[in-house]
Amino acid sequence: MEIFALGEGSYSVDATKKFIPFNPETDSKRDRPGSLFIHVNPFLIKTADDLIVLDAGLGYKDTRDELLLHQHIRNAGFDPEDVTLVLMSHLHYDHSGGLVVERNGKLEPSFPQATHVIQRDEFTFGLSGASTSYHKEIFEALQASAKIDFVEGSGEYKPGIKYELSAGHSKFHQVFWIDLEGTKVFFGGDELPEPEQLIRKFVAKYDYDGHRSAELRIQYGKKAASEGDICLFYHARATAIGTVNYQDEVFTVTAV
Ligand SMILES: [Zn+2]
Repeated sequence: MEIFALGEGSYSVDATKKFIPFNPETDSKRDRPGSLFIHVNPFLIKTADDLIVLDAGLGYKDTRDELLLHQHIRNAGFDPEDVTLVLMSHLHYDHSGGLVVERNGKLEPSFPQATHVIQRDEFTFGLSGASTSYHKEIFEALQASAKIDFVEGSGEYKPGIKYELSAGHSKFHQVFWIDLEGTKVFFGGDELPEPEQLIRKFVAKYDYDGHRSAELRIQYGKKAASEGDICLFYHARATAIGTVNYQDEVFTVTAV
């Protein structure tokens, strides 16, 4: 099965909302008080018709000035130019930074051949500059030179790809189900960002609607368990790709 986690590594983020690379082996969490520590895993899926990127990470570059994302796609045996679809759960910077790449002082789409599937109201909100969690210059650059298919609410984008407006983590957040060789893949973005969130129940301050998000995690987790979906966990520490089991009101996640 062709699903790849395009891991961008670990970062800390504090009240300034700047993401700073964090190396667990050489950096100390104590040096970054008041920070959240996150892992970032965009995904790549090869279906019969498409090469799909799911969320785009922060857009960090390696020492050769190449996007880590591009490097990982090449390592998986594909070319970034071959990506046909970019499915976006929402547009917070840690999910959308890698949509563009700076070349000669100008932001260009990282996936120039791809169609970007984005909730219309999420894009409008990001572009408005009303929240520092969104970097509007990314969306201006996309608008100028990328293909975008705006979707609204819930529906089927094309045979085998469904989206649902979930509206928990951000006001216009969406999740996806993708058919892959008879198996269903669930991408919950930040509604189901890591396996631990199924196991440890809590309401998070960073969600737009924390109570709704907490309920959605359970709902999506149960659906994935009963239907045998493969889940993609964008902020997973360890298990980025896994199946969910729900028994006696307890979730367990097994790496695929
Ligand atoms: Zn987010």
